[in-house]
Amino acid sequence: MNEIIGLLPYAENAWLAFLTLWAALILFHVSIHFGTAAILIALARSQKWRKIQARETRVPASSEIRESFPGFLGTPFCLSLGLWAQYQDWGLPPMETSVWTVLVFFLIATLIHDLWFYSIHRLLHTKWLFKWHIPHHKSPVPTVWTNDRFTLLDVLMTQCFLIWVVFVLPIPPLALLLYRLSDHIKGLIGHSGFEFAASRLAIWPMPFVCVTHHDGHHELFHYNFGNTLSIWDRLFGTLDPEYDAKVLAVRERLAEKQPPQK
Ligand SMILES: [Zn+2]
Ligand SMILES: [Zn+2]
Repeated sequence: MNEIIGLLPYAENAWLAFLTLWAALILFHVSIHFGTAAILIALARSQKWRKIQARETRVPASSEIRESFPGFLGTPFCLSLGLWAQYQDWGLPPMETSVWTVLVFFLIATLIHDLWFYSIHRLLHTKWLFKWHIPHHKSPVPTVWTNDRFTLLDVLMTQCFLIWVVFVLPIPPLALLLYRLSDHIKGLIGHSGFEFAASRLAIWPMPFVCVTHHDGHHELFHYNFGNTLSIWDRLFGTLDPEYDAKVLAVRERLAEKQPPQK
């Protein structure tokens, strides 16, 4: 990755090289966003029984996309700054890139980010900060287009992880990039409103979540603050008390291809 950054046009000019990196990552982010959203929408249309809530969103996709610009710009900005800090040797020297180092640091980053996201997300739900998070909660029925609907403060608070992580972990740049890519795709699936991941891994005592988890955060508002794992919600008492039962019920409904009851 450092070699790639070194090849950027104007690499001898730090500002222009950074702006080029940021622009490239915006393009990457937006392509992944719309590409994954298109696949999820097509899947949802052909598998309507996967819908989690019976009601439909009343928020038009155009307004969700319009209010996603802080997300489209802010997340790539944080990722660019993290990669740039590594390139400039401001952070910890990253480990050599190999299959094992990428895999291990990908998993460590996922675990650390999950606790970080849980904590910041709970902070964003306090009365002091909620006004900065409210656009993300305009509809109790999320869609793929809700994923990046953030204010600038909201996105910087959650995604600054991509900056500070390079100062505490010798994470190979490729692992950071792949971690961010997985988090983006996971977020789009998690907001799709359709259940694609209700396996046993999402039910106690397993630690993972399925789409029903974050869908429930939008529907119920005071529960389910985690991202990839349910352990923080279970540990700090913020998991919807009916979450496991709901996942079991969704699994049964999906097995029979039954849409949700109105
Ligand atoms: Zn929230
Ligand atoms: Zn959300």
